[in-house]
Amino acid sequence: MTRPAPRPLLALWLAVLALGLCAAAACGRPGSPPVKGPQPDRLPRYEVARDFRLPDSPTWRKATARGRLVVGAKEDQPYLGEKDPASGAYSGFDIEIARMLAASLGFDPAGIEFRTIASANRETALQNGQIDYYVGTYTINDMRKRLVGFAGPYYMAGQSLLVRADEKDINGPRDLDGRKVCSAAGSTPLQRIQREYPRARAVAYDSYSVCVDNLLAYQVDAVTTDDTILMGYAAKVPEELKVVGTPFSQEPYGIGVPRSDNALRLALDDALEAHQRNGDWTKAYDATLGLSGVPAPRPPAIDRYPAA
Ligand code: GLU
Repeated sequence: MTRPAPRPLLALWLAVLALGLCAAAACGRPGSPPVKGPQPDRLPRYEVARDFRLPDSPTWRKATARGRLVVGAKEDQPYLGEKDPASGAYSGFDIEIARMLAASLGFDPAGIEFRTIASANRETALQNGQIDYYVGTYTINDMRKRLVGFAGPYYMAGQSLLVRADEKDINGPRDLDGRKVCSAAGSTPLQRIQREYPRARAVAYDSYSVCVDNLLAYQVDAVTTDDTILMGYAAKVPEELKVVGTPFSQEPYGIGVPRSDNALRLALDDALEAHQRNGDWTKAYDATLGLSGVPAPRPPAIDRYPAA
């Protein structure tokens, strides 16, 4: 583990860099990515189900009794899950997925409370009932399925690498020998680097934005996690950062639920499928993750696995 570098807030970095880019007339140039994130007035609205009931789900019963859903999310992943420090509002593709599913369960946007949970704390948060479900670049895998349930998948990502724009020697995970690579504690990309590329010098922090701060401050040589997350950071400061190589894993994103709540898991699978069919999924993608430059893919097939 490396000692944390002096950490200017990523938001500050991005704001300063964005201003610099605007001054250099990069803003609004055709083909340049938008500096701003998702625009609230361009986001789809989801029809809120009336008289929806799911009495077999203890999570739904608890949420209904309290009058709102508590959803775990990320707060520093551009285009996916990002919290506006001024207003406290969350935005991004994961947030839209959370909202469309909430609508199917009978909760309107005002009835959702988002709570930031880091990668390493997701399973505990679901096991302790701190959150009702979790939507935040959460890869479905067998190890995690022993601890939590997963609805979905709703998106297929892949592990990739983010480097400084002037980096020439890192083009894939094999080039990481002896180089410092940063990822988040408790994440699948960190585990893969440690397991499959042991000559890389892995460094872990709680969140990817701290890794990006360290990359911009020359404290690490690369950041590794899902391409979706890295593209979001790169799209905000394309003069400073780039995503290199081709994805070297498959990361199917699921909605984390308490493990024993099969009724909730299957209801979310049904809801997700309905939102894929009626076009909400694509509209949500285009208004969020699609802003980082990749056209909407076909959503992956939903996996309704049997109860454990
Ligand atoms: N999808 C990976 C995971 O679930 C990396 C992203 C994250 O940490 O949220 O571990």
